[in-house]
Amino acid sequence: MILIDGKKVSADIKAELKIEIEELRLKTGKVPGLVVIIVGDNPASEVYVRNKHKSCVEVGINSIVVEMPAETTQEQLLEQVKYFNENPDFHGILVQLPLPKQINEDVIIRAIDPIKDVDGFHPTTVGEMVTGNPTYVSCTPAGVVELLARYDIDPAGKHVVIVGRSNIVGKPAALLLMQKKKFANAIVTVCHSAAKDISVYTKQADILVAAMGVPGFIKKEMVKEGVVVIDVGTNRIYDPTTKSGTRLVGDVDFEGVSQVASYITPVPGGVGPMTIAMLLKNTVKAFKEHGM
Ligand code: NAP
Repeated sequence: MILIDGKKVSADIKAELKIEIEELRLKTGKVPGLVVIIVGDNPASEVYVRNKHKSCVEVGINSIVVEMPAETTQEQLLEQVKYFNENPDFHGILVQLPLPKQINEDVIIRAIDPIKDVDGFHPTTVGEMVTGNPTYVSCTPAGVVELLARYDIDPAGKHVVIVGRSNIVGKPAALLLMQKKKFANAIVTVCHSAAKDISVYTKQADILVAAMGVPGFIKKEMVKEGVVVIDVGTNRIYDPTTKSGTRLVGDVDFEGVSQVASYITPVPGGVGPMTIAMLLKNTVKAFKEHGM
């Protein structure tokens, strides 16, 4: 069994980007800029935003975080998005989700200029991705594909089974992996909660992508020998043996499944670190295409 080390791949990508950004700076006198807008005080979002900012600084992206109070109105947030749409120093805009109840996420996502949509959630961006045109691919599914590519696991002609059909992970991952492209071209099955017996599908997987949000759901008996397992699940569970009283686990029962898998991602340290690496990559892409 080979452990797919997302932490290392993410560090490699950051090192590559750091060199590229320095070259771009020397050539243009400018660097890519990313603004992250966070509304309210969701502790998990605050951690994500801090990590994104830290990674930007590491590679030389000019990053700012705009913190808005929980009672921010939709109009006030739209104003901010409009300001950064028009600000040439920022090539990427990310509005951290979830947003407070009074704000319609769809309205906000649609307000982001698609040329700055480095999170890849705008319907225009999604449409380009679905049709196979070059665009910003949303960061977590892009991270899944990048991990496979970096470990030279070619999904072409393989049966990829994805558990989960959310708009941010399962659905875009399926669409990406079925493209007639390099490191894609897979036969894709997407499972969701309407499946009566999910193991009928998971047992057929050459590559299994678990993105359901149910801790340890995928067991050894549900997969075949030699399967490649990409565990997107990030679930915090109670664990009194740890200092914090909790720990992160995936959707896959790592201990059991790793006995039969050929490759497997750990949680943490698998897909998680790739999401930020892909965000940085998208920001550099935005700069090269629209900021120079
Ligand atoms: P989500 O929006 O809750 O979607 C979960 C999907 O899994 C749904 O399609 C659901 O089916 C399906 N599902 C849930 N329980 C199931 C079951 N028992 N059998 C079959 N299908 C089932 O979750 P998400 O946002 O995609 O996130 C999934 C996981 O990935 C979470 O643990 C999340 O924390 C993690 N995640 C990690 C990253 C990262 O590493 N950077 C990023 C995003 C998400 P229905 O559609 O029928 O309800």
